[in-house]
Amino acid sequence: MTTGKLFILSAPSGAGKTTLLKRVMADLPGLAFSISHTTRLPRAGEVDGVDYHFVSRDKFEAMQDQGVFLEWAEVHGNLYGTSRPAVLAQLATGLDVILDIDVQGAAILRESAAIPAASLFISPPSLPELERRLRGRGTDSEETILLRLKNARQEMQAAADYEYLIINDRLEQAVDTLRAIVIAERSRGHRLPTGQSIEILSEL
Ligand code: 5GP
Repeated sequence: MTTGKLFILSAPSGAGKTTLLKRVMADLPGLAFSISHTTRLPRAGEVDGVDYHFVSRDKFEAMQDQGVFLEWAEVHGNLYGTSRPAVLAQLATGLDVILDIDVQGAAILRESAAIPAASLFISPPSLPELERRLRGRGTDSEETILLRLKNARQEMQAAADYEYLIINDRLEQAVDTLRAIVIAERSRGHRLPTGQSIEILSEL
């Protein structure tokens, strides 16, 4: 049985990663999203257990002590972590798992090389365009926007550490690129574009 592969996706907030991901996950079968734990409060419209597992700092720290997290990081003043047992269970079913994590978490996974992964960085076309998008979505306070812009400048410097770079200038083109990368990575693992094992060919 072929196990799935990890796809690490990082992007400055506002780069359009969530929209891109939703589009490609709707198009390509065999992809699962890893739902992180976070101490951040839910934004309007976010659902516990769907967007994130929203937990208290105490609960998060207890999970850290128990070694639950494959990686974790503090981002914009909140804690975020990826559950190791949840990801391993998804991979074991043959699904490819998408980790939407920040540049610190990606570096931890790259260094530990615990699980084979492809890493992708999604960049906005420019910082002024990123600022325009952050203001346009109208979900964050001025203070949060300024913090996110400052962090974006730093995060963009980590882009060269990733295997793939996607510039999200025009959404359709970025969707095509992300889809092509997933299919190419599957082919490297001798799998079909659907994510199924090549063994299925002999059963057709
Ligand atoms: P947001 O609060 O806007 O949903 O996410 C803020 C940042 O935290 C994003 O860069 C996102 O990729 C990152 N993030 C979300 N989940 C995780 C996680 O489990 N681990 C790490 N290291 N970063 C995460």
